Amino acid sequence: MEPISKLQAVIQCKCPRCRKGDVFTGNMYSLSFRGQTTNEFCPYCNLRFEREPGFFYVAMFISYAMNVAEMISASVAIYILGLPLVYDNLWYYVGVLLLTVFICSPFNYRYSRIFLLHWLTPGLGYVPGSGDDQVHNSKIVSPQ
Ligand SMILES: [Zn+2]
Repeated sequence: MEPISKLQAVIQCKCPRCRKGDVFTGNMYSLSFRGQTTNEFCPYCNLRFEREPGFFYVAMFISYAMNVAEMISASVAIYILGLPLVYDNLWYYVGVLLLTVFICSPFNYRYSRIFLLHWLTPGLGYVPGSGDDQVHNSKIVSPQ
């Protein structure tokens, strides 16, 4: 199988080491109670995604930066679309911004962790052929 590029691995939320295993189970936007969860281990190369205890706290800061960028974009979009920012309609802005945060939160959860794993973790890079020697069982997603 031809290896995918780093950008494709980021977009498809694949493991940073083998670029074959999925980092998440479940859909980004689903109505089930479980929703999306981060696998503890890569189902293909068995890489532990949480590199150390509290590793994904850093993703919170990335998610915060993404939230700020999305809210600024939404504010500019509202302004360009014809709603001037005056005191009378401030609550329209607040409502749209809260709606933006609510709609984007599953996306931010997923991609803040992916950005952290792929670009901000030193020493974690693509290793061609990693996990190819292991026996893969599609029913075992992560040891619990
Ligand atoms: Zn992997």
